[in-house]
Order: sequence, then structure tokens, then C-alpha cells
Amino acid sequence: MPDSESSPSFKPGRVYNRREDLHGHYGGQRQGGISTPADRDLIFLFTSAAGQEYGYKDEFRPDGIFWYTGEGQEGDMEMTRGNQSIRDHQEDGKRLHLFEALGEGQVRYIGRATYLDHHWEDRPDAYGEMRSAVVFELAVEPTEDQDRDDVEEQVEESGGSNQRWWTRPQGELRALALQESTSSVSEEEARQRSYQRSKAVQIYVKKRADGICEGCGKEAPFVTPQERPYLETHHVRRVSDGGPDHPRWVIALCPNCHRRVHHGQDGETYNEQLGKKLGKIELSPSS
Ligand SMILES: [Zn+2]
Repeated sequence: MPDSESSPSFKPGRVYNRREDLHGHYGGQRQGGISTPADRDLIFLFTSAAGQEYGYKDEFRPDGIFWYTGEGQEGDMEMTRGNQSIRDHQEDGKRLHLFEALGEGQVRYIGRATYLDHHWEDRPDAYGEMRSAVVFELAVEPTEDQDRDDVEEQVEESGGSNQRWWTRPQGELRALALQESTSSVSEEEARQRSYQRSKAVQIYVKKRADGICEGCGKEAPFVTPQERPYLETHHVRRVSDGGPDHPRWVIALCPNCHRRVHHGQDGETYNEQLGKKLGKIELSPSS
């Protein structure tokens, strides 16, 4: 019985009853770590300290990125179902909401998450057999979720407060984007920084592109309600290979080029080409 089509507002730190407060209102699978309510613009992710015993070790890394283990209890994990829904959430217009399971059906809201990348690791499955597991690299935003009309550009266009980001000079954005990560900060601060950094990178990169797809060189296909050319950001490299949240590894693409990277037959080759292009772009910034 969905009350309305508008997105819910969860408060970080607040405890919810998973079955009643989440699935009772929004639907979705009541078991498991990834729950994908049908016909909703949201996906619930649950992380649990208890999962560690079963090879589901999730954690905030020193750089503030949250590593979240995908689903699949036995054998190699696959990029299907819940796992696929995390990878494609931005293209699908869905928001990721991350909760921490506290036991007895209670969950605490951590914040909204955004997929940055994923990698594969060898981890034991439910029977202790080693298998290939997908680990998602997520930016987590520990602030209250806002109702928004535009889910497509969720991170980039979060309404009024975003204006502040867009009016920052490129140099300032770049400095924020390159902010050093240190391990001496609190987990909370690490999350804040991760969010700030990824936001700064996204906006810096879009401003750098200046309305032109950095892949095919064509103009952005349309403008947003904020009258900005619509482009998407894409990380050409994995976190583990040197950090996706660096302008050197993030490119602004039109939706066509972005889909080509993820779904094209030549997606991997194209991605490599984009990486090379970025090397030239960032060596000689146009502004
Ligand atoms: Zn393009």
C-alpha cells in the first residue's frame, strides 16, 4: 500500500523496523542484504557485522569509500539481480539506501549510497568454499534524504544546495577533489570527506566538459531544469587501482557513450580509449 509515489525520507542514525517500516510501506524482499522493491525508485542495502563470518565483510575504507559485498550465498557471485541493480542504479533512476542491521529486525539508517565502482575478491561462501565475490565501492552520503523530482541526476542536481557547489571556482573544486585521505579521522568525518570529494569531482568534471561529451565530442543532448547541459560522469578506473575520485579518472559522457561503456560489445576497449583521452585532458586543462 504505497502511500505516494514520492521518495521516502530516512534520517541517518534513526532505527527502523525492517519489516514494518521498510517492506510494509515500500515492498521488496524481506530477506537478504539487497532488497529491490518493484516499481519504486529505491533499493535497500543492509549491512551486518554478523555477515563477516560468512564472507560478507563490509567496511568503510580509510579513503571514506564503503565496500559492500554483493549477494549470492553459494559459489561464484554473478552480476545479476540485486548485484546488477546496484551497479546500474543511476542509469535505472534508483537510489540506494544503506542500513545497518542491529538484530531482531531492527535496522539503522546510515545514509544514501552511490555506486562508484566494483571489484572481485576471493571470499569464502556460506559453506566455507572459496569463491569469487563482487565488492561494491560506494560513496555514502550521511545526510537526510530529500524529496526530489529528478532522480536521474541524484548526486549532481540535488536542488538549491547544489547551486553553491556549481558556483565554486574550478580551482577550489579541484582542490576539494584532490583532498588527501588520511586514516586518522573519525569514521563520520571520513564519510563526509568521501561525499564531498566525490561531489567536487562530479561537478568539476562536468564544468571541465563544458557541455561537450568528452567521449564522442558531441554536444550534451539536452539541458536540465537548472539549465545545465546534461552529461553523466563515469569512472574509467577502479578504486583499488588508484582511486576513481580523481579528475584524472573521471570523464563526462553523454548518455549514449555512457551506455556504450557499460553495455556495448566494445565497452572495455572504449573505456580504455576514454582513459587515454583523460590523460590528455587533465594534462592540459582548458580552464
Ligand atoms: Zn558521447
